[in-house]
Amino acid sequence: MAGQLLLRTCAATLRLSRTGIARSMATMKGIPTDEEQATGLERRALEALKLGKDPYSMLKPKSYAGTKDDPHIVPCIGQKRLVGCLCEEDNTAIVWFWLHEGKAQRCPSCGSHYQLVHHELPH
Ligand SMILES: [Zn+2]
Repeated sequence: MAGQLLLRTCAATLRLSRTGIARSMATMKGIPTDEEQATGLERRALEALKLGKDPYSMLKPKSYAGTKDDPHIVPCIGQKRLVGCLCEEDNTAIVWFWLHEGKAQRCPSCGSHYQLVHHELPH
């Protein structure tokens, strides 16, 4: 008698849990995507990527020619930044110089152009 009661209780519990799972899958309409379930920092990054922004520098940096018309873009949160230029591909020494806000500056060794661009840090 006690065994049959226990079996009925277990069967009822199983039925309830199965319908509960089926109900939750029906209301959520399947497995949620990354965009639907992302929260916090990940959500902000995904929303920014949709708008074409890269606030956390997650994407590969663009390459620039380094000429006067297409200078290397250097993001900066201040007014100046220390830049290292590998003037030639095989060089073992790096030429360091300060890049200031304003006009594009040239590397003192090879003459490549660098432009400082103000970059807002996301909070
Ligand atoms: Zn250089």
